[in-house]
Amino acid sequence: MGLWVVSKTKFDVVKLKSVLESRLSKNLIDKVTRKSEDGKYLYEILLDDYIAGTITPMEKIKYFPVFKLLDVIRRSFNRDEDTFKKELKSITIRKIFRNALRSIKQFGLGTPQTFADPVMIVWNYTNNCNLRCKHCYQNAGLAGDKYKQKELSTEERFRAVDILAERDIPTIFFSGGEPLIEKDFFKVAEYAKKKGFYLSIASNGTLITKEMAKRIKDIGFGYVQVSLDAASAEKHDEFRGVSGMFDRSVQGLKNLIEEGIPGCIAYTHMKWNHNEFPKLVKLRKEIGAYKIIVYNYIPVGRGGFEMDPTPEQREEIFKWMYDEIEAGHHIIATTSPAFGAYCKMNNASSIVLAHYADLKTKELGVIADIIGGCGAGRAYAALQPNGDLTPCVYMPDTILGNIMTEPFDFLWNEHPIMKTLRDREHINCKCPYEAVCGGCRARALAYFDDLTAPDPECQYNARHYYAFMEALKKGEKYVPENPYKEKTETEVA
Ligand code: SF4
Ligand code: SF4
Repeated sequence: MGLWVVSKTKFDVVKLKSVLESRLSKNLIDKVTRKSEDGKYLYEILLDDYIAGTITPMEKIKYFPVFKLLDVIRRSFNRDEDTFKKELKSITIRKIFRNALRSIKQFGLGTPQTFADPVMIVWNYTNNCNLRCKHCYQNAGLAGDKYKQKELSTEERFRAVDILAERDIPTIFFSGGEPLIEKDFFKVAEYAKKKGFYLSIASNGTLITKEMAKRIKDIGFGYVQVSLDAASAEKHDEFRGVSGMFDRSVQGLKNLIEEGIPGCIAYTHMKWNHNEFPKLVKLRKEIGAYKIIVYNYIPVGRGGFEMDPTPEQREEIFKWMYDEIEAGHHIIATTSPAFGAYCKMNNASSIVLAHYADLKTKELGVIADIIGGCGAGRAYAALQPNGDLTPCVYMPDTILGNIMTEPFDFLWNEHPIMKTLRDREHINCKCPYEAVCGGCRARALAYFDDLTAPDPECQYNARHYYAFMEALKKGEKYVPENPYKEKTETEVA
């Protein structure tokens, strides 16, 4: 999951809201997102005219909200008009536009925004993996291990792509297990590319030979991230469970970079490797990797609570990341929503937001409050190896249903769990910066078995982290009160 680095916005959200949420706008959006009798959507015709430069002044006035939204998207990606017009021909960008229109129609302009379809699907393609990392959220390993569940067949994987392609989902991020271990991976990915998805991969990098890097390039993946937990073979290999893997991962990364693919280092920040971060920053430069993506540690799967960094360690890594960004080095991305809060709190010149596809833009003028931190169930969902949909890869047991047998629209838009995740008002992670953060809901679930609990990752919630750890030592349970939680019918009775 790459990220957007967001420059401080110049948009007036309140004004934008009043333009896009008026009854007139909603009626217009409704009109342009319906198919006409000749099978075309009006917004497609408007886009074609916009690209061709044949929009009349009357049309500009008549469809003002549509062109306003188009302009917001263009400026969000820091594009000049000519470049944007070229990009608007791509299916991916059209999906983003249609998704934005439908989202405003369905949910209004929100801070944060809820999307009518996920902006990104992370597809845990398989549970198979050639490594045995101690923190694996997916509990992945070699095929035949006793925990293995049935996975989609090749034919079903193609069908899964078709199901996703019917929606306005612009990006698929392949993860696992190790996706590159699967024999059908490139055939399925190529098919997804033809269907108009922006693609990226999370890999341990050990299988990425020069030939494979070429294949990745030919298919047109946007970027690939390779996991490195430490800057030395000794530490990395000990943690990853197989010796010799550090060298192979670094070689895999080099092979990608040689092919011109943005190769990133994915570093999971844990207690034991806290001090590896500055060393990895150096290594990134030596290798020429595009970015370091700092993964927020979440104690699920094989990952235990003892590996979770303290709130103070988090504060320190935030400072390190912040300093890099303020120095003008756009080399950091993170999956930690609390870093968005940290940037805002410190009045940073740009805000790094969790979990959005890195479309090779250095700075986006997007409104941070609209993008809004944790995207689970609001902007993104995860597809498990058997076709189950979960709100996030770090919630492998929160199963909404299986996309092969249940309507995607219901799972995404109607499922009660998704509604809970979207309702920030009842989430007990409160601070002045919650609009750009919201806390990691997977961490809240892992710690307190409650999607609406505080995320014990930041200074605001440090007391919950220490109370939990204290209780854990004594073999007791600690659950924070949630005064914001909506009472269920049973609780009220
Ligand atoms: S209190 Fe919650 S919303 Fe605020 S910064 Fe901490 S984790 Fe984020
Ligand atoms: S729950 Fe939210 S913040 Fe946490 S990993 Fe998932 S999407 Fe990211």
